[in-house]
Amino acid sequence: MNNKGLLVIISGPSGAGKGTVVSELIKNKSYALSTSITTRQAREGEIDGIHYFFRGTEEFKKMVEKNELLEYAEFCGNYYGTPMFYVEEQLQQGKNVILEIEVQGALQVKERYKEAILIFLTPPNISELRSRLENRATETLEKINMRMKRAREEIKLIDKYDYIVINKIVEEAVDSINKIVESEKMSAQRHIDLINTFLEGVE
Ligand code: 5GP
Repeated sequence: MNNKGLLVIISGPSGAGKGTVVSELIKNKSYALSTSITTRQAREGEIDGIHYFFRGTEEFKKMVEKNELLEYAEFCGNYYGTPMFYVEEQLQQGKNVILEIEVQGALQVKERYKEAILIFLTPPNISELRSRLENRATETLEKINMRMKRAREEIKLIDKYDYIVINKIVEEAVDSINKIVESEKMSAQRHIDLINTFLEGVE
């Protein structure tokens, strides 16, 4: 029986509420959250090694060269990437590993791990995106505009995702993601070993 965890990718435009949803999800100990590496500056309150590993561009590029990243992408002037080691280790231990990453990186992971589940989280409507970003007040107007432009580009790629979850009420969005993961665990495709055991039993 395949006890490996699932790779759960959560993407969505800045302001979709990914951070809040993910922090609720990981209260459930079956999940492990991957910490990304980024070259962007830490925001107030962000801690190195918890929210991100904040690193310089040189160090980031070295990791890329050494093939230490599962995926990486450039987003609004900074690099972001997923360290491979942690993801592999946690999957082997049976944890469902959450990657909270943007669309280009998500599609790279899907190329590599066909079994990864791609979930796109959106706010109920696009006009809410800007107000969420403005209320967050962590970015300059120029950066907010850049992120809104990027959001439009990301939304065009939603059809590459397996699921869309609308984040109107956080608890409901979390519940939907848990249900997706539970159903995916029962998918026949993920139980080829079990099916083979059944076949051996009926011969
Ligand atoms: P933020 O600067 O708001 O923390 O993140 C900007 C975007 O980068 C978000 O869409 C976030 O999901 C994405 N992101 C964070 N970590 C990674 C990563 O490791 N790889 C990729 N491709 N995107 C990431």
